[in-house]
Amino acid sequence: MTVKIDTSYEYALAMDKKDALATFREEFHLPSKSIYLDGNSLGLMSKRAEQSLFQLINSWKHLQIDGWTQGESPWFFLSEHLGDLMAPIVGANSDEVVVTGSTTVNIHQLISSFYKPHGNKTKIIATELDFPTDIYVLQSQLQLHGYNPDEHLVRIKADSQGLINEEDIISAMHDDIALIFLPTVLYRSGQLLDIERLTQEAHKRDIIIGFDACHSAGVIPHAFSKWGIDFALWCNYKYLNGGPGAVASLYVNRRHFGKVPGLTGWYSSTKEKQFDMEHTLTIEQTSRAYQLGTPHIFSLATLIGSLELFREATMEEVYKKSRNLTRYMMDLIQHELHDMGFSIHNPDDDARRGGHVSLKHAEAVRITKALKDHQITPDFRAPDIIRLAPVAFYTSFAEVWKTVQTLKSIMQNKSYEKYNSNRNVVA
Ligand SMILES: *Cc1c(COP(=O)(O)O)cnc(C)c1O
Repeated sequence: MTVKIDTSYEYALAMDKKDALATFREEFHLPSKSIYLDGNSLGLMSKRAEQSLFQLINSWKHLQIDGWTQGESPWFFLSEHLGDLMAPIVGANSDEVVVTGSTTVNIHQLISSFYKPHGNKTKIIATELDFPTDIYVLQSQLQLHGYNPDEHLVRIKADSQGLINEEDIISAMHDDIALIFLPTVLYRSGQLLDIERLTQEAHKRDIIIGFDACHSAGVIPHAFSKWGIDFALWCNYKYLNGGPGAVASLYVNRRHFGKVPGLTGWYSSTKEKQFDMEHTLTIEQTSRAYQLGTPHIFSLATLIGSLELFREATMEEVYKKSRNLTRYMMDLIQHELHDMGFSIHNPDDDARRGGHVSLKHAEAVRITKALKDHQITPDFRAPDIIRLAPVAFYTSFAEVWKTVQTLKSIMQNKSYEKYNSNRNVVA
């Protein structure tokens, strides 16, 4: 397929010139020589994130134990404070979000809280394209309840194009389903599911529904509270630029406040009672009850600076630019790389894709290696996907143009053929 677009470098430069978020590029430590397109796996370090990390290192140095309650960002309230700042990013009320745990731990926490099998309602719906950790958690949670995952985990199959069809999810919502847990955006294909519709359909049938928003939080605006989803969790080291191992986020809808979480610890307590050290837990009445223990302060610290940038830029602008970047990249790919064995795996419709372009090619491993040698950092997912994430905060249209031109010359010169096709440990 060929599309009619302006493929000149001048056009890319003109797009950069009128980019409303152009100044944010200077807020980041960009690699000096290369083009970074892996922000959906590990976002770049912003200067604000770096500063806020140093600020908290200093609070330890100078305040010692008093850092818990004093200083600019008292540690004892940091998870809640960051929850307040994170809430608008996913369209939530402040008290519905807390920054705590890791993605995998939060999936365990929320599934153990919301999976309440009873009678013949015992099954969980997921998809066959889910990120492995999500599936492993569901399998182990089913096993903890004494159920065989082979029978009780329903994994929706992909269609012939490798996409998940919402109709297939809805037609699997039978009487025996206790819970639905889905990705907002699928990590390989970049497909965005219709969260609002799936929530309505689940609730019509009295089924609890939660989402893993790792690949949409910080790139696509959500309206979790308005849509009434029951729960969600997401990663903060991808589009939210919190750094490697940054503390993750979780969301619990207000209608569930007051329930006892599946897992509790002393941070599930109301703040006022926590240091009374009683053996009877006084449960916090908001999403903050889903915390367990002492937060990893330095892995939270970066988010203070990073979330400031989101507040200044606004999610609407971040999304607008992200959508324009991925659209531009897809159009260029279709125009410049046709007949070279590539296909675009993510849905073409702007309303159905997340923040990355999912490029399929039988030689994906070797092409990824060639790109890296040409100072472009993509991300490879076995067996045949190259993920390219132009990030609104720091990727320019000119870089997208250069990337596609580089791919074109790699294919024309067959320079990928000199690499072997073993993938690296961290893809
Ligand atoms: C990145 C990602 C994870 C990672 O979970 P961790 O606990 O941070 O290792 C899990 N699920 C999805 C969908 C992801 O994209």
